[in-house]
Amino acid sequence: MFSSWKELEESCFSCQKCSLSETRKNLVFGVGNKEAKIMFVGEGPGEQEDLKGEPFVGKSGQLLDQYLELIDLSRKTNIYIANIVKCRPPGNRDPKEEEAQMCISHLRNQVYLIRPKIIVCLGRVAAQRLISPDFRVTKQHGEFYEKNSVYMMGTFHPSALLRNPGNKPDALSDFQKLREKIRELDLL
Ligand code: SF4
Repeated sequence: MFSSWKELEESCFSCQKCSLSETRKNLVFGVGNKEAKIMFVGEGPGEQEDLKGEPFVGKSGQLLDQYLELIDLSRKTNIYIANIVKCRPPGNRDPKEEEAQMCISHLRNQVYLIRPKIIVCLGRVAAQRLISPDFRVTKQHGEFYEKNSVYMMGTFHPSALLRNPGNKPDALSDFQKLREKIRELDLL
């Protein structure tokens, strides 16, 4: 575990621990406030993220930013966003188990350095990795689980909302619950 961002970033940007390093254009480390109390975690970079080196850009990123703005959150000021895997799985497939296993130490180190009070998992892959292996987004979205004094919540991945807009009201409700939890914990 690295105790400085510089060491962690150097290790991560030179990482070749799994085969995703062979096809990435850019490693997508994370973005936001490194002292944020609230962290968002997705599954892995898509095509646009791979091209730009930043998580959640393109249409899904725009949708996420809209939802964040509704509850006074922004990647520019008060949250940090990262992914389970830092390199793009080809064809936007889910990360494989061995890739996630290899990469999770980077995310754990980011959490160690940030020490967030709330972690929001965007989509099934992140929620099953961080909350519970049998997490069902459609059934358990918006529920908070306390783990090691960190409140964790799973909600829909913005890309899934673009494919299934019928879930948008539930996602908005999850963000309102997040707002209430932020107020309850007096985080902002
Ligand atoms: S996905 Fe993670 S483990 Fe694999 S090469 Fe990229 S940084 Fe390393």
